[in-house]
Amino acid sequence: MATEEWNRIVTELPSRLEDSRAYTAQGRVAAYIPELAHAPGNALGIAIMNGASGIITAGDVALPFTLQSISKVFTLLLALMDKGESGVFAKVGMEPTGDNFNSMLKLELVDPGIPFNPLINAGAIAVSSLIAGADPAEKSERILTFFRQLAGDPTIGYNDAVYRSETATAHRNRSLAYFLKANGVLEEDVEEVLEVYFKHCSIEVNCTQLARMAQVLAFDGTDPVTGRQLIPRRYVQIAKSFMITCGMYNESGAFAIRVGLPAKSGVSGGILALVPGKYGIGVVGPALNAKGNSTAGVHLLETLSTEFDWSIF
Ligand code: GLU
Repeated sequence: MATEEWNRIVTELPSRLEDSRAYTAQGRVAAYIPELAHAPGNALGIAIMNGASGIITAGDVALPFTLQSISKVFTLLLALMDKGESGVFAKVGMEPTGDNFNSMLKLELVDPGIPFNPLINAGAIAVSSLIAGADPAEKSERILTFFRQLAGDPTIGYNDAVYRSETATAHRNRSLAYFLKANGVLEEDVEEVLEVYFKHCSIEVNCTQLARMAQVLAFDGTDPVTGRQLIPRRYVQIAKSFMITCGMYNESGAFAIRVGLPAKSGVSGGILALVPGKYGIGVVGPALNAKGNSTAGVHLLETLSTEFDWSIF
């Protein structure tokens, strides 16, 4: 049943989105993975799902984009389901770094040299190694199957051009991974772990598919469309905690203050956000600020959260 708030979102979303679109001019599309540079810098789209009964979209919702770092939330969840908390937290910590997402600085400063958290690249690479499966192909297949289940869409797949582009240019991620191998965090073959990592970063969605994935988290692991519990509640609680403390790169503190919602962004300009017990939200706006977050996407979420009093704090 549509609430008063839902009806107001229906009415206001198109103009709110167009107001925020102006902020795309302040950002730049990521180019360090060459294939990502082709994304349209002035695009902005959003989908909001409210459990079983409805979806509201505005802007460039059909634009496909790769999950990039957003995928790290879901590989963390799958690793927790495969290895449990003790298995995961033996290899990765629980703290924000204050450093860039691809930094290796702290790996040498702490003992043991495990990544600080699962949402920075080093941590997500460690998490990729924890996914159950006999080889990289089986691990990747399990990840894709899990993501399809969360999105309620068996057609979701990889963007092969982005996958190949990242594989060919990921010198920094390679060095991080070899460092982790030297530190004993990775037990498997480094290139095999990286294959799993690059593949899940290159899984492609649109805003609607992302919103559906987000709402499983908004409803504590239950898909509100089917009523099926897809993820144990405790693991969703862990993922949401990381999203608040580390989900928006080095802007997670400001985002918590200004928006106040669990969220995760990626360098393709996607943002997954959720309003607990209410909405799953998928946003895309490829123009990024210096921290790596979508300029217009963050502006739109801030506007909506302020207007509808969504902050969880
Ligand atoms: N695949 C990207 C990388 O490893 C993900 C980064 C991101 O979205 O933050 O550089």
